[in-house]
Amino acid sequence: MIQVPFSKPFITGKELTYIEDTFKRSKLSGNGFFTRECEKFFEKEYGAKRALLTTSCTDALELAALLVDIRPGDEVIIPSFTFVSTANAFVLRGAKIVFCDSLEGHPNMDPSKIETLITPNTKAIVPVHYGGVACEMNAIMALAKKYQLYVIEDAAQAIDSQFEGKQLGTIGHFGAFSFHDTKNISAGEGGALLINSEEFIDRAEIIREKGTDRSLFIKGQVDKYGWQEVGSSFLPSELNAAFLMAQLESIETIQSMRLMAWKRYCNEIKATDVVRSFEQANCANAHVFFLIFKDSQVRDEYLTFMKSCGVQVTFHFQPLERSPFVIKNYPPQSECKNSIELSETLVRLPLFAGIKQDELTYVIEKTNDFFLKRSST
Ligand SMILES: *Cc1c(COP(=O)(O)O)cnc(C)c1O
Repeated sequence: MIQVPFSKPFITGKELTYIEDTFKRSKLSGNGFFTRECEKFFEKEYGAKRALLTTSCTDALELAALLVDIRPGDEVIIPSFTFVSTANAFVLRGAKIVFCDSLEGHPNMDPSKIETLITPNTKAIVPVHYGGVACEMNAIMALAKKYQLYVIEDAAQAIDSQFEGKQLGTIGHFGAFSFHDTKNISAGEGGALLINSEEFIDRAEIIREKGTDRSLFIKGQVDKYGWQEVGSSFLPSELNAAFLMAQLESIETIQSMRLMAWKRYCNEIKATDVVRSFEQANCANAHVFFLIFKDSQVRDEYLTFMKSCGVQVTFHFQPLERSPFVIKNYPPQSECKNSIELSETLVRLPLFAGIKQDELTYVIEKTNDFFLKRSST
C-alpha cells in the first residue's frame, strides 16, 4: 500500500540560493529587493496598479478592510462556504457579516442571491473564487456600481486564473492572494494585496508599515517619518519574499504539474451514480480537484475507504452561519442550503506539484473501485 498525502510543499531548487542572497544584501526585514521583485510580478504580469506583499492572505484582507474604512454598523457580504479569514478581517473592524449561499453544485456565491442581501448599511462584497474558478464578476461588479459598494476579491486560491481574459484579483477594487503552504504558489506563509484603484495606494503603504510613512522616508520623499493613521505590521521579511520569488519564477512549471494531475483525475475517474457532480467544466488553475457525492453517507464512506487505502482525501469548509462563533454572537441566521449540502458532500483529492504518476494511478484506481462497488449494490 502506498501513502498519498493530500498536499505536499513543492521546492523549485532556487529558494535557498535566493534566501542566501538576502544575507549578502544585508537586509532581512521587509520591503527590500525580493519584496519589490515579487510585487512587480503582479504589477507587470497581472496589471495590478500596485501589489503589496503581506504576511498572509488574512492580513491582505485586513489591510483591505482598513483601507475601505470598515466600521461598526457596516455590513459585508461574503459566501457562507469559505474559510474563516474571509469573515475575520471584517469582524475585526466591527462589521456585521452577511452570508450569501453558493450556487447549486458549486461553492462560488450565487450572484442572483446577492442583491436581496444588500441594505443601506452594506459596504462591501467579498467574492471567493473557489478552487480558482472565477465568480460571475460581471454581475458582482454591476451590483457594486449600482449600490456603490467595494469589491474585495478573496483570490486566496485563484493565482493564475482568469475571468474573461482578466486575472482574478485584478477585477474588484482589491484582490487578496495567499501563499500558504497549501496554495499553488507558496512562501510557507504569505500573501499579497492587489490594489486596482490608484486612490488607495499611498494609504495602503502607510497602513502596512504600522501606520507610518516609513516607505516615503526610505524613498527620500519625507525627511522624517511618523504616525499617520491606524496601521499594523503586515510586511513580510525578505526571507519569505526570497522564497516566494523562486516560486513565482517557476509558476509555469508548477502549474503544468498541477494541471497534469488535474487532467488525469478528470479523464480517468469513471464517475457512477454515487457522484452527483463531477467538476469538469472549468479546470481553472488546478488548485483543487473535487467530487460532489449524492449524499453525505456515501461521501463519508468514500472518505473512510480512501483513508484505509492510505490516501488522504478531505472535505472542505463548514457553513459559517453554523459555526460556534456565529451561533454565539449573531441572531439566528437563515441557513444557506447549497453551502450546507456542499459541506456534507464535497471531497477533495490529493493534488500538488510533484505528485507522482503512480500515486495518481493509485488514487484513481481506488476511487473507481469504490464507485463500482457502491453502484452495483
Ligand atoms: C487559504 C485561504 C485564506 C487564508 O490564507 P492565509 O494566507 O493562510 O491567511 C483565505 N481565504 C480563502 C478562501 C483561503 O482558501
